[in-house]
Amino acid sequence: MTGVKHQKWWGWGVEGIAFTHEDKPKLAPFVMEKIGIDLNAPGTPPPAFEDLKVPASQLDDDLAAKLRDALGEQYVNTDDLDRVVHTYGKGLVDLVRVRAGDLPRVPDVVVYPGDEDQVRQVVDAVVAADGVLIPFGGGSNISGSLTPPPAEQRVVVSLDLGRLNRVLEIDEAAGLARVQAGALGPDLEDQLNARGWTMGHQPDSFKHSTLGGWIATRSSGMQSDKYGDISDIARGMRVVLPGKVIALRPLPSTSSGPSVREMILGSEGRLGVITEAWVNVHRVPENREIIAYLFPTWAAGIAAMHEISESDASPTVTRVSDANETAFSLSMQKPSKGLAAKAGPILFNVLERRGWDLSAACLSYIGYEGAESHLKHQKAIVGKIVKKHGGIKLGNGPGALYDQKKFDTPYIRDFLLDIGALGDVSETAAPWSKLMNLYANTIRAATDAFDELGVKGFAMCHLSHSYHSGACLYFTFAFPPSTDVPAEQIEQYWVVKKAIQQSFIDNEATISHHHGVGTDHAHWLEDDISPAGTDVMAGLLESVDPGRNLNPGTLL
Ligand code: FAD
Repeated sequence: MTGVKHQKWWGWGVEGIAFTHEDKPKLAPFVMEKIGIDLNAPGTPPPAFEDLKVPASQLDDDLAAKLRDALGEQYVNTDDLDRVVHTYGKGLVDLVRVRAGDLPRVPDVVVYPGDEDQVRQVVDAVVAADGVLIPFGGGSNISGSLTPPPAEQRVVVSLDLGRLNRVLEIDEAAGLARVQAGALGPDLEDQLNARGWTMGHQPDSFKHSTLGGWIATRSSGMQSDKYGDISDIARGMRVVLPGKVIALRPLPSTSSGPSVREMILGSEGRLGVITEAWVNVHRVPENREIIAYLFPTWAAGIAAMHEISESDASPTVTRVSDANETAFSLSMQKPSKGLAAKAGPILFNVLERRGWDLSAACLSYIGYEGAESHLKHQKAIVGKIVKKHGGIKLGNGPGALYDQKKFDTPYIRDFLLDIGALGDVSETAAPWSKLMNLYANTIRAATDAFDELGVKGFAMCHLSHSYHSGACLYFTFAFPPSTDVPAEQIEQYWVVKKAIQQSFIDNEATISHHHGVGTDHAHWLEDDISPAGTDVMAGLLESVDPGRNLNPGTLL
């Protein structure tokens, strides 16, 4: 027993938590209308693990002995369940493939080093044996960055950072904490909070992703408007490369040439193993509040988010959903009782009388933190901007509910798979000046792809993560494939996903704002950063890893 907990082999999160629609009476009619699927029809649960045919481990005795000498018997694991858990991330293709028992190449062994010295020994032993080494954090990636290449002949070692999960020190004067790379979101925040600090990084995958994974994929959390993306938060780091260690001190800023720190950010395991990082931390705020607003149109919501980003307000979260996502959110509500049950219909009546087309309304959440007086000031600025763009305040009740439920939403994808629908996401960022066209053209591209497949599909979007020059748009799509054959379902999925990703490039947006490149987005990397840009990146990877031993299936 290693003491490291993992997600389910077949889906998101942990056993015992699952999505249900039974307490959400509006959801089944909504899903029937939008994608023609009956939520009450019997689903097909994932197969039993025993029914999978897991290829045998190809770990040779020589490397096995070196790994056991370095880590101890207990931390070198070749059992089938552990190897399958380390084969895929949690993208849609990963989930369809693992449920179908499609396991062309599974890591031969999973190792659990307990300190940086052991990480060094593993890296050096694997490279000396000309094996493949894949660092593994929480296994939550969604762009295909963990899976060994299907035709890989060399021994494949998954290096799980799960034992490196401690906050090592806090420099209170600087507001910096030194944290081991395998710390999951809750590990890290619990240890910091106990001492009055927070890092403030809250991706939707927070419960099942790690500091090292965030750095390796350039992650972004929902509170990035205040705390920054991980590329802002992670100031210093240590990275084990074959035969050496990069040690970067936590500097507030530096002009010492092209940034090696930035090279590690987004490196997806291709440049070595991040063992720890110095991260910006802040005092736990006195107050924290999320308020819901409603805008009459998507254009009004986007214009308001833009104006808020330019104003003196400094919210933690700025988020607005398009009309489709708003309708979806409303369909997910549980029935309310008493006054609350009457308030919604009364409000909607009033808005209709004021001339709102409710089918175009867009729900927004804005987050605030700090002292009471600061919050008051912020809310006043935002309130004026919302009003100027025709919006109204719904209050902090729906905001608090959103905040409570945000980490449960990912479970819905497994539920959809059980009942025969494919659901996934694509996210991007672009300048404010391009956002409206990007949005309209991407929704059109998804709709055209559904038509091409002859399926009833649904696409929705929200804006999150605002910056000085632009913002992130996050698209979610779902459709029932017209086939039960997993390989054909994946082909149909790619028709939609490719249409969306191509639209990002055609509309001057990036291939990913925070999920990384992986294998899924690699096709568009050259379009994103130019052929000369990929040449530079290839040179960097080659200089560190000429034998392509470090996670060779991802990035480039
Ligand atoms: P893993 O999935 O284990 O690994 C990801 C990549 O990083 C791999 O290439 C791996 O080799 C490499 N890696 C991991 N640890 C290290 C290390 N210590 N050293 C070197 N390389 C390493 N992302 C966001 O940014 N924001 C979100 O809000 C968000 N929401 C999500 C919601 C869902 C439902 C899902 C499935 C994913 C979401 N993601 C989100 C994507 C994912 O959680 C991130 O990419 C996350 O940063 C991955 O971290 P991880 O620890 O799980 O890494």
